[in-house]
Amino acid sequence: MIKDKNTMEKIVSLCKRRGFVFQGSEIYGGLAGAWDLGPLGVALNNNIKREWWKMFVDGREDMYGLDAAILMNEKVWEASGHTGAGFCDPLVEDLETKERYRADHLMEDNGYDVEGKTPEQIDEIIEREGIKSPNGNPLSKVREFNMMFETKVGAQGDVRSYLRPETAQGIFVNFKNVVDSMNPKMPFGIGQIGKAFRNEIAPREFLFRVREFEQMEVEYFVKEENWSELFEVWRQDIWKWFDHIGLSRDNVREFEVPENDLAHYSKRTIDFEYNFPGKGFDELAGFAYRTNHDLKSHMDASGEKLEYIEADGTRYVPHVLEPSFGVGRALTAILAEAYTEDEMGGEVRTFLKLPAHLAPYRAAVSPLLKNKPELVAKAREVFAVLKKEFGNVAWDDNGNIGKRYRRQDEIGTPACVTIDFETLGQEDPSLKDTVTVRDRDTGEQTRIHISELVAYLKK
Ligand code: ATP
Repeated sequence: MIKDKNTMEKIVSLCKRRGFVFQGSEIYGGLAGAWDLGPLGVALNNNIKREWWKMFVDGREDMYGLDAAILMNEKVWEASGHTGAGFCDPLVEDLETKERYRADHLMEDNGYDVEGKTPEQIDEIIEREGIKSPNGNPLSKVREFNMMFETKVGAQGDVRSYLRPETAQGIFVNFKNVVDSMNPKMPFGIGQIGKAFRNEIAPREFLFRVREFEQMEVEYFVKEENWSELFEVWRQDIWKWFDHIGLSRDNVREFEVPENDLAHYSKRTIDFEYNFPGKGFDELAGFAYRTNHDLKSHMDASGEKLEYIEADGTRYVPHVLEPSFGVGRALTAILAEAYTEDEMGGEVRTFLKLPAHLAPYRAAVSPLLKNKPELVAKAREVFAVLKKEFGNVAWDDNGNIGKRYRRQDEIGTPACVTIDFETLGQEDPSLKDTVTVRDRDTGEQTRIHISELVAYLKK
């Protein structure tokens, strides 16, 4: 199946119709760059985060978890460089409509790569090449626009703070706390999942570029001499994560950031890109070797010693590898990968081929007919067993069975369990206490004894 812009539109519409993702503040006309997760979206989102935590924190011996506050002392962002030019995007304005654009994206759309160029250099190209806004109007000069949301803290409103634009700094400022409280052995890492906020100039493309999003980040502390070896190990671990969330390797690729485009403190950065329908390959996650730049900056600015002391007394400021994932971009990629149209029973059907560990519902349980109390009672019994085991199990008795299957297919439920007259043993006593389990992907139906149902669904 070829997936294009049209597919993405269908996914966005499915997301709204079936309760995955809603436009933020929709009844008031929305708020650009803000989206709300509906009942199924929050289930999928939580499953992504849980699997990530299992793989990168709980599943390892060398990782520690953290949940730092979103509001931090403003000095954090001065030390990290976020209040300065380092966290600005180049902005241009359409002089007539006043619409604002990311100058680098606009230039890219016109065939110019301006990565690393100053506003003056971009101005020069705009002038020389006569580049106009997408509406065909002249453009303003480029200026740097800082993406941090500023806020005031306290009743007097005199303490400046920011909504954090990344979770990473919360990890660096807690480095000493974790070392002192947990005594980790080198190399070790700290993982964190949480919200981040960026006042993006032009939020766009569904959850791809938003102003409020979630990140899943690791700062992995290493001895300088080991960075490149451990970089390779982490690189493979990142691939394992994409496999685990069901992204096909054909749709994920590495983009090695060229040396002249690297941030001054990074010696190596790889962007992992996903082939988003109708958009093409773009950043899904980043992986950077950030030297010991961050810890050093915080050490200089705070005066605290952010060092690691080995058993033999040697001290050093560790270097760091940073795999950084956006939850929303992962969710978009997972939906894009899972979205499938095929033909079943002579009709086109739409289904989400989600991995079972990510699907909002692990299974749905239905009585064949909802007006037969014996069927409903038995179905309720089966439902209770599955609900206790898996938690995320749906009860579905709406419409006829064919409609229920279509509906569950569309939200990616891997199995539908139906309780019918055979379950009651009325026609063939040998089938008593067996149920029909229908597979989402093939539509195949299998009879399974209730006592084996949990094990069957687990496999
Ligand atoms: P881009 O170049 O696309 O703006 P970035 O390089 O600024 O992204 P990082 O600072 O490396 O992104 O952030 C790490 C991850 O956080 C990204 O790979 C992405 O998954 C996610 N992310 C960053 N900005 C946004 C955003 N505005 N909306 C959604 N996810 C984001």
